[in-house]
Amino acid sequence: MIWYPYEQMKNMKTPYKIVDAEGPYLYTEDAKLLDSISSWWSVIYGYHQPQITEAICQQAAKFSHVMLGGLTHQAAQDLSDKLADWLPGDLNYCFFSDSGSVAVEVALKMALQYYVNRGEKQRKTVLALEHAYHGDTFKTMEVGDDEDYHFVLQVYGENPYVVHIPTEIAALEKAFDRYKAELNCLIVEPLLQGAGGMRMYDIAFLKRARELCDEHGVLLIFDEVATGFGRTGYRFVADAVLPDILVLGKGLTGGHIGHAVTVANQKVFAAFYDDSQEKALMHGPTFMGNALACAAARASIELFDALDVPARVAHIEEIALRELAGFTDERIREVRIMGGCACIEVYDARTLAGYQEFAYKRGVFARPFLTYLYAMVPYVLTDEELVHIFSVMKEWFRK
Ligand SMILES: *Cc1c(COP(=O)(O)O)cnc(C)c1O
Repeated sequence: MIWYPYEQMKNMKTPYKIVDAEGPYLYTEDAKLLDSISSWWSVIYGYHQPQITEAICQQAAKFSHVMLGGLTHQAAQDLSDKLADWLPGDLNYCFFSDSGSVAVEVALKMALQYYVNRGEKQRKTVLALEHAYHGDTFKTMEVGDDEDYHFVLQVYGENPYVVHIPTEIAALEKAFDRYKAELNCLIVEPLLQGAGGMRMYDIAFLKRARELCDEHGVLLIFDEVATGFGRTGYRFVADAVLPDILVLGKGLTGGHIGHAVTVANQKVFAAFYDDSQEKALMHGPTFMGNALACAAARASIELFDALDVPARVAHIEEIALRELAGFTDERIREVRIMGGCACIEVYDARTLAGYQEFAYKRGVFARPFLTYLYAMVPYVLTDEELVHIFSVMKEWFRK
């Protein structure tokens, strides 16, 4: 049987069985549902997207996979060339992996080894944000700060090397002042913390973080697995503040196949580039650079530019602001909107019990978690479809 994610298998509700998916719609045997959360935020151009599907089929007709250990292939080369060209600054060195969590592991391993390679072994402290989410594997769980995701680590005690700070400049400055030359890297989900509760913060924090990292020789890592590909309104937040290491996943392939990439800048790459084998990056996921995924990602990047995603997301944000900003109810703590993400946070999780069925009956698929009712829509919705999603959210509080 299937062991489902984040579920108590003994009493979980039967999941909706999807028999087809096209554009922003999911189809069950008897319902057509607008997907308001893009399959964990990844299916940004909708399902069964023709260009991405075609790119996968064309590659599959040649071969689906060969490893990158001692071998290479055109699809991976084309994608890394395109990313180097397309991403800001000197983020040019692409290390592929099969999921976002693994790509974050790679980023942390890079940062830790960067200083080992340079002989600065005292730099062991990793700075991360409160409410951070960076994945479900152990090391990523350590830098995450959400009890639901990493409670298992408590069995082993607090890890002394990860320090969490709130997204406030004063706290950032204090942490740099306190840990100084012990600091290795600062890892953040820039501007928008997703799984930690759709928390949004100001770009001024990131600008100050960049300054402090430069001043103290600390690496800045952006985990843009969720924020990348337009979600915040920026193409990448990295376009506004340049990190040393950038992690992309989810939307990378338009959500058509799992894949991710850790992209390093010249400075990071240079610390590994040496005659000594000991300085090599010792990592290699079996399915890194999978040919189908690389072909899908190339098509996804082409679509991103062809569809002018930033303009679309600006329009989605405009409608979200018009429909949801200022919406109040005594059960609502806050309404937050940024780019293609809109969230209604309530005080009590019980307020949202039954919402999924309520939305289902109105032709919308939603999956609120804890106290967060949110929409992270595919970018290809019509205005009417978008308004419908927000109307169902509001109706829940007016029923
Ligand atoms: C989803 C997510 C991850 C993990 O990606 P997976 O592909 O699920 O392993 C990491 N970081 C952020 C910010 C995410 O939203």
